[in-house]
Amino acid sequence: MKKNLITRLNEGPILCAEGYLFAMERRGYLSAGAFVPEVVLEHPEVVTQLHKEFIRSGSDVVQAFTYYGHREKLRLIGKEDLLEPLQKNALKIAKDAANEFKDLDLMVCGDVANTNIYNPTDKKSHAECQKMYEEQVKWAKEAGVDFVIAETINWTGEMEIALKAIKQEGLIAVANFAIPKGDLTREGHTAEDACKMIEDQGADVVGLNCYRGPKMTMKLLKKIRDKVSCHVAALPVPYRTSEEYPGFLNQPKETVDPDCSCIPGDNIFPVALDHLYCNRFEMGEFAKDCEEMNVNFIGICCGAEPHHVREMAVALGRKPESYKYYPDISRHWLHGKDKSFLELNTSMKKKY
Ligand SMILES: [Zn+2]
Repeated sequence: MKKNLITRLNEGPILCAEGYLFAMERRGYLSAGAFVPEVVLEHPEVVTQLHKEFIRSGSDVVQAFTYYGHREKLRLIGKEDLLEPLQKNALKIAKDAANEFKDLDLMVCGDVANTNIYNPTDKKSHAECQKMYEEQVKWAKEAGVDFVIAETINWTGEMEIALKAIKQEGLIAVANFAIPKGDLTREGHTAEDACKMIEDQGADVVGLNCYRGPKMTMKLLKKIRDKVSCHVAALPVPYRTSEEYPGFLNQPKETVDPDCSCIPGDNIFPVALDHLYCNRFEMGEFAKDCEEMNVNFIGICCGAEPHHVREMAVALGRKPESYKYYPDISRHWLHGKDKSFLELNTSMKKKY
């Protein structure tokens, strides 16, 4: 019988590649701002391809691209009628992609995210959120996912609603908070307290995703690991966020990238973050650090590309399918050492 997520995590780290929204925006298949995954219906083959690239790079989890394909987002672009087909198609694309790699023992997960309508003092909004989560989780369950991730949520109260929707369908729940500047949820809970509360309410895995780069994620992760007994998840964005600006949503252009004068607006989020981009080795190091501190659900969020994922897999001691093409600089005409190379060229390194 197939092992479930918790058994897998008990045995060691699992790797989960996310970041589909940013990847699709960069490729020209959805618009930054609204960030609605219309590509799932318009160009499903592109989503399949990205799933495959992440799988080849070592992701153990194929996450259905339902992120931000929820009712509020579709209403925003006047396409609420596409909600159900979009969600169901995203789940099918993920399942089909996983089925192409039968010998890899992949897990497929559903995904729910911040609704953007939750208001702690408005009970009506709680009921609306609940409906939004319930419909998505129901479709995920019908599709036969292995578990559901609730993520990028910064209210503990909203996470509670999402968690309840997942647990009432009897599914394994991963609850990942995105923590703003100040290191607190929007209500004012510390990340570790919020995680503990959610663990106590039945979450199987708790942790952090998005907003923060590896260092600023790690800062909160240690406290979470000390506080909870369940498995912990960590999926930072591959950007070098700082103590001053820990979240990538607010990176003022003047302070963060003063040497570039052509970026429109006053913030480099979300389409000019390149200056802060982490290289693959930084992400590999993050994965290794997680493993060492017994954080076993390891991944990467907005900004991720397959080269990051592969390096994270390698840091965890694996050789994923795309390891076949792992860098070998010894074969480079200028930097390499192959006997066939002309000294005429290799001696010129410093001249370039
Ligand atoms: Zn993200």
